[in-house]
Amino acid sequence: MRCHYCEWRCELGMDRFGVCKMYYSDGEAIRERFPRRWCSFGVIGIEAIPFYHVYPGSRCMTIGTSSCNFHCRYCANAFIAKRDPAEMQDELLDLTPTDMVKTARKLGCHHIVFNVNEPAVSMDSLRELAREAQNAGVTMGCLTNGYTTPESTEILASLFSFFNISLKGLSPEFNREYIGIPSVEPVLRTIRQLAAIRHVEVATPVIQGVNDHELDEMAGLIAAIDPEIPWHVFRLLPEDEMRDTPYPNIVSVNSLLEPARGKLANVYFHNFVGSEWVNTLCPSCGSVAIERFSLGCGGDKLQRFLCPGARCSSCGHTIRLLGDRVAWNDGGGAQ
Ligand code: SF4
Repeated sequence: MRCHYCEWRCELGMDRFGVCKMYYSDGEAIRERFPRRWCSFGVIGIEAIPFYHVYPGSRCMTIGTSSCNFHCRYCANAFIAKRDPAEMQDELLDLTPTDMVKTARKLGCHHIVFNVNEPAVSMDSLRELAREAQNAGVTMGCLTNGYTTPESTEILASLFSFFNISLKGLSPEFNREYIGIPSVEPVLRTIRQLAAIRHVEVATPVIQGVNDHELDEMAGLIAAIDPEIPWHVFRLLPEDEMRDTPYPNIVSVNSLLEPARGKLANVYFHNFVGSEWVNTLCPSCGSVAIERFSLGCGGDKLQRFLCPGARCSSCGHTIRLLGDRVAWNDGGGAQ
């Protein structure tokens, strides 16, 4: 039986677990090898994940499972994503969907966000969790590498209300050498498919001298889908197989982003302390609509929310947001 969850479309059997090693087939269905096994849960602000246009200021419980269907040379979560999942099961948390949602509620979280590895490798567990979360009025979001098939992208859209999709690079050479996939086309297709029906933000980790020359072309591709998709350009701090690679120069990368700012309404450049490019500016008058502070490395915070009702307080232009500002301590579930 062939797995349809991502574009590897692996042939599965009782002892054939696919590229991600997370599924098998008993001849009747695709089954998870390690259902309801979670590698972490933590609590962070939504800006730190990052989502900049979703319920600003809200509190998220973040979760993950194990393994991945990509093999990124610079992976920051290699200790989870690249290990054989069978070898790490003793280290994982065994929590039912009910327990997960109750925990999120007790921690005062408005959302549950899957952000450690790739959701496509744990589809059934996430389906169960999403059902429980929907019943409890807790919204779910995820980070994804976007390598899903059209049919599994539809499944993801039924589980999650908001997505941050990673667009890592465009050329076949880059994708083969640095990511381990033959083509970026499925990722672009997923961005197109999800942006039509769900809130989507896109993130691109920049490696200077490797994919920075593609930034303008990426901006054009995103703008052709929807110029209001927020784009997070990340100064990559390479890890794993690329830990000796120098960090990108902030001034050089930022100068490459100037043309992109004429194509997309919201181009953010962050993952370093004190970034000047983390505020949302009104696309009409240029006033600051949402002010943030960046502590770098997933430490972005909301400072001031200046567009109540998603209207620029200077000119009244609509700022694209999924949900209004949420107080960190209100303890309720955002719908
Ligand atoms: S989800 Fe895993 S098993 Fe399924 S096609 Fe992708 S890599 Fe293969």
